[in-house]
Amino acid sequence: MSSAKAVVAFLVGRPLVAIAIAAVVVGVLVLTQTRKQETPVTHRVQHVGLTDQQQIQLGNQDYAQTLRENRARIVSTGPQYAVVQRVAKRIEAVAARDKPDFVWKVTLIRKNVANAYCLPGGKIVVYTGILPLTQTDAGLATVLGHEVSHATAEHGAEKIERVHLTKIAAAIVAGGVAFTAQQYVRVMALLGAGATLKFSRAQESEADHIGLVYMARAGYDPRQAVLFWKRMLRASKGKEPPEFLSDHPSDAHRVERIEGWLPEAERAYKPA
Ligand SMILES: [Zn+2]
Repeated sequence: MSSAKAVVAFLVGRPLVAIAIAAVVVGVLVLTQTRKQETPVTHRVQHVGLTDQQQIQLGNQDYAQTLRENRARIVSTGPQYAVVQRVAKRIEAVAARDKPDFVWKVTLIRKNVANAYCLPGGKIVVYTGILPLTQTDAGLATVLGHEVSHATAEHGAEKIERVHLTKIAAAIVAGGVAFTAQQYVRVMALLGAGATLKFSRAQESEADHIGLVYMARAGYDPRQAVLFWKRMLRASKGKEPPEFLSDHPSDAHRVERIEGWLPEAERAYKPA
């Protein structure tokens, strides 16, 4: 029996030892294979393995596919197009201060879905179905501020990284071959995982916080965010809750937390 097989046989018989080794391996990988950085606004220290370029690549593949699938529905003229471009431009300018290498771009798609998202690397998709809920420029700035914060705080990369490191650790423990980060980006892109990754509640809350400061920095009154989330809360009690809420579970505490960050956002607010 080869020594690798002997090790595997030893570990199979002792799952707790294998788990302990995996935990140590993940810990070592977090320290050696990721870069340490701080999220904007909230200054949370995070460990991310994907570079900005890899995140852009991951987002672009997803974006290109979405645009292909919705070619006939892309809105490129008219008042709804104008409002989305106008607000996105100001929010993107603020986000670009934290992520200057990302390539910011927004596309409006005619679809009766109340949703919007920003992919890793800065590509944004807005569906016309969310505009009746955002109502005003400041309402749309609330949504876009929140979405671009997921990108600048690298929430997608963080999620992928957790899965990646867990898989590397599992592969090492099993004596297999681990993916490189680059290979993993390709695999995840093929799976279309970029857009479908669900963020954690902590990440959602962080995006609310960063987004509120972003909208204020972009010249939108942050108090309008409170009104927007109250509208969402009311809409969630209807018979068809907006899709945006399935990704962004709202509750009374969300509004309370946002109100708690208002003084900070108001200090950043300079009316345009
Ligand atoms: Zn979110």
